[in-house]
Amino acid sequence: MYPLQPENVYVHETVAGNELYMGRVNRVIAALEKPVVPTVYADVDLPEMISNGLMAKRGSMGTLDEIRDPSLLFNTFRFDDQASERIARLVEMGVTQTGSLTNLLGHQAFRWANYNQEGDPNRGHKVCRPCWRIHQQNGCVHRCHYCGLGGLLIAGVNVEEYCHWLGKLIEMHPWQLTYLLDDDGDPPGLEPELGCLGELIEFFGTLENRYLIIHTKTWNTEWNTEWMRELRHNGNTIIVWSVSGPNQSRFIEPRTGTTEERIEAARIAQEAGYQIRYKFKPIIPVKGWEEDAAFTAKLMFERTDPDVISLCSFMWMDIDDLKRRLPVEHLDPAFLAAAEEAKDTIGKVTTRPFPPIARQRIYETHLREIRRWNEAVPVSLSTESFDMWKSLGDAMGFSATDYPCGCGPFTVPGAPTLACHPFRTATRMDNGRIPCVTG
Ligand code: SF4
Repeated sequence: MYPLQPENVYVHETVAGNELYMGRVNRVIAALEKPVVPTVYADVDLPEMISNGLMAKRGSMGTLDEIRDPSLLFNTFRFDDQASERIARLVEMGVTQTGSLTNLLGHQAFRWANYNQEGDPNRGHKVCRPCWRIHQQNGCVHRCHYCGLGGLLIAGVNVEEYCHWLGKLIEMHPWQLTYLLDDDGDPPGLEPELGCLGELIEFFGTLENRYLIIHTKTWNTEWNTEWMRELRHNGNTIIVWSVSGPNQSRFIEPRTGTTEERIEAARIAQEAGYQIRYKFKPIIPVKGWEEDAAFTAKLMFERTDPDVISLCSFMWMDIDDLKRRLPVEHLDPAFLAAAEEAKDTIGKVTTRPFPPIARQRIYETHLREIRRWNEAVPVSLSTESFDMWKSLGDAMGFSATDYPCGCGPFTVPGAPTLACHPFRTATRMDNGRIPCVTG
C-alpha cells in the first residue's frame, strides 16, 4: 500500500472485537510510515467525533490550505434495515451534518443507482444507466484538487459477510453483468495489507459471467498492481484506469502518479490476465491539453490493449466553484472564457461549466488521437448528456442506448455489442430485501 501518515486511526468496536478483522487493520497500521495507536469507538461516540472534526477535512482538496493523508476509519458493513433509526438517534444526540452518516454507520455497502428513473434529479440529462453500485470504501489518498474525498478514508472490513450478501444481490438481478466498485474512493490504496479487495476479486472469480469493475488512478506497480498477479480472478475482474495527460496529472492530481506510471500499472494488470480499460475522466482543459491527449493516446496503445475507452470532460460544478478548486493559471484561457460566457445560461446541468461546443471539441480531439493508433477500439462518452450523444453518435459509431460503457452494467470483457436496451432492462428486482441506499 501507499506509505501513509494518517493523523488518526479509528476502529469500530465490531472490528476491535473480531480477530480476523483486527488482523486486517493491524497489517495496515504496521505499514504506516509512523506508528499510530488506534482509537476504538462505538456509534454513540460519533457525535463527539464529528464535533471534534472527523469530517472537517472533507472539502474540495484544491480549496484547503494544507492537504494531508486522510485519517483511517475501519468499520463493519451492516446488512439490516436499521439505518434510519441509527441516523435518527445520532440526530437526537445533536449531529447536524447528516450527509456522511450512512457511510459512517456502515450502511453503504450496496446502492441502487436510480439513473434516469423516478427520483433521479438528473433524469433525462445524463445518460448513465440504472444499476447496482457496490462499495467497500469511501475516501481516498490521492489528493486530486477537484475532489472532496480526502480527509477521512472509511473502509468496511467484514468482506466475508459482504460477499454473502453480494451473492444474494447478484442472484436476484440476472440482467446485471458487471458491478462497479467504489465510485467514491480508489479501492487499491490500502491493499494488499487490508486484504479485502483480493477477497472480493476472488469471490467474483468463482462466478459465471459476472464481473467486478475496479476504477482507479493507482500507479505504483509495486504497491498497487504486482500483488494482484497471484489472485484467482478467473478473468472476472475488469480494471479501469482513469488517465490524464502529463500537465493535468502533474498540476492537479499530484498523488496519482504520472501518465506513464498509470499506464505501466495497467500493463502489469493486463499481463496478469485482467481486462483493462481507460477513462479520460475528468478531462480538464489545461494549457497544452491537446498535446496531452496525443501523448497519452499514443502511450496507451504502445503499451496496452484496452477493450473500451471512455471520455468525460470536467463537469459537476459552476465556473466559480471550478476556479476555487483548480489552479486557473494552468487552464486554457479559451475554455475558461467559454465557461464564463455560458455561466448565466448553462443552468444547473451536471455537465456544466463548459458549454456543449467546448466539450465537443475536447471529445473530437481525443477521438482523433485515439484513432491515430487504433481504428477499432470502442470509444464512448461517460456521464454525458443525451444531446452530446446526438451530436457525436455518428463519429463514435454508437448512440446513448447502445454504447459500451466503461463501468457497466452490461459491458463485459471484450466489450461486445449490447444485447439489451439498458434503460428498459435494468430494474430493481429484490423487492426491498437487500438493505441498501438509493439515489
Ligand atoms: S483518485 Fe478519484 S477519489 Fe481519489 S482523490 Fe482523485 S478523484 Fe478523488
